[in-house]
Amino acid sequence: TAQSYVTPLSAVSTFIGHDHGLFIDGDWRAAKGTERLDVFDPSTGEPIASVANASPDDVDHAVRAAHKAFESGVWSGIAPAERERLLLKFADLVEANAEELAQIETLNQGKSINISRFVDVGGAPAYMRYVAGLTTKITGETFDVSIGAIPGARFTASTRREPIGVVGAIAPWNFPMMIGLWKIMPALAAGCTVVLKPSEVTPLTSLRLASLAKEAGLPAGVLNVITGDGKAGKALVDHPLVAKITFTGSTATGKAIARSASDRLLRTSLELGGKNPAIFLADAPIEQAVQGAILGGFFNNGQVCAASSRLYIARAIYDPFIKALAHAVDGMTMGPGLDTAAQINPVVSLQHRAKILDHIARARQDGAQIVAGGESPDRAGYYVRPTVVVGAGAQLAISRQEVFGPLVTVTPFDDEDEAINLANDTEMGLTASLWTNDLKKTMDLVPRIKAGTVWVNCHNLIDPNMPFGGYKESGIGRDFGIHSLDGYSEVKSVCIAH
Ligand code: NAD
Repeated sequence: TAQSYVTPLSAVSTFIGHDHGLFIDGDWRAAKGTERLDVFDPSTGEPIASVANASPDDVDHAVRAAHKAFESGVWSGIAPAERERLLLKFADLVEANAEELAQIETLNQGKSINISRFVDVGGAPAYMRYVAGLTTKITGETFDVSIGAIPGARFTASTRREPIGVVGAIAPWNFPMMIGLWKIMPALAAGCTVVLKPSEVTPLTSLRLASLAKEAGLPAGVLNVITGDGKAGKALVDHPLVAKITFTGSTATGKAIARSASDRLLRTSLELGGKNPAIFLADAPIEQAVQGAILGGFFNNGQVCAASSRLYIARAIYDPFIKALAHAVDGMTMGPGLDTAAQINPVVSLQHRAKILDHIARARQDGAQIVAGGESPDRAGYYVRPTVVVGAGAQLAISRQEVFGPLVTVTPFDDEDEAINLANDTEMGLTASLWTNDLKKTMDLVPRIKAGTVWVNCHNLIDPNMPFGGYKESGIGRDFGIHSLDGYSEVKSVCIAH
């Protein structure tokens, strides 16, 4: 409706329409390469911007700028309190420009403006301040060596944490600005310099972040932002002056990065895909279970690494649950991200919609049944109706591969052992949720679930203080928490004879 449709700020169209170039060494630079990338509005399918596709020369330019800034000590050599102050200023500027950032994110990514406002952008300042605060808490230890005794001499050892160097940060398209910040903030807080490459599908908010970092006073070369596709990402991974890659994206790309990285033992942290289970025990109230399934499975149109895409339901509540879920999903209103009343929005790209529709077609061929959704409506934009699949055996592609769209599979179980076996029957291990009010069962079952995060009676809740990352093929390393800076530093032991 007219009342629920947000009219974009004029600053947003000015920003989107401008050809920014690449942000290297503290300023906007024309790309050396000539390739361009079109950026689309998923709600219309129309191009809204064009950005440079960074060439290997451009990547080299950015990495050298970051390296020069690192070696000069303009960032790693200043007082931690000064780094903290600048990062807090950066957070203040994100907060001050929140509505503009949220609108850019929605226009480029397709997601609901409610999510952009309250999660992607709304959550950013608190996260940024949490990490900025860690800048001044980096410490080592001092201890007597345990066995290094030589008559007449004593040895005292200490450890120091030193920033690792230039960090290459590679981000996906589902939460472009938010995950970009998860990659760059701990690196900057630790004293590293950064080259950020957002996804080629959603580069716009990262470009805006670059200008805000400059406005905050981060020295030239400390944060560089280059737009480009997977070739630019690979050039970043392969650059000899990059000391660490922090990556969030698909498991397939994560494995490719790990293979390239192995040649020179490049440090990596990899936050990868998920095929996450939600287990609803028989005591879970149906209404709460349906709400939980919708939040877990369809939030951000299912384009969430943590999404509960596999629902396991106790047989006793299976029939009423399916009926209520299919009804609720069929009733979800669909519309562009700028419509605050729309509950389902377009997925991010034409290619991604085709991939989701392929998964649905294959599930049908494999004998699974669609009880809600299952198609793309006849309208412009990259829409897919929210979809509920039943009767999908554990070995079917739809049960094993990450669809990353508004789709859940639902499967009954007879006892809790079966539920745990089904939940763990996956190569992935990012998140899971358990829905019950039975304390004993909760305490018994949580340790048996192989996932980096297990939620009980909630799903998709993340917090800067709560480590987040994957078991198995969902990744290596953890974002968030007080140890999130550790991956951006090396430990140096210093041993003093006296
Ligand atoms: P993707 O792997 O296709 O792309 C991610 C990034 O990697 C992009 O910037 C892309 O340009 C770059 N890239 C592509 N090929 C590369 C290469 N060979 N070398 C270096 N970089 C390369 O992922 P996507 O489709 O953008 O994002 C969706 C995926 O991200 C899903 O699998 C989702 O589960 C995952 N994800 C994980 C988390 C997490 O925290 N674990 C969070 C969000 C998304």
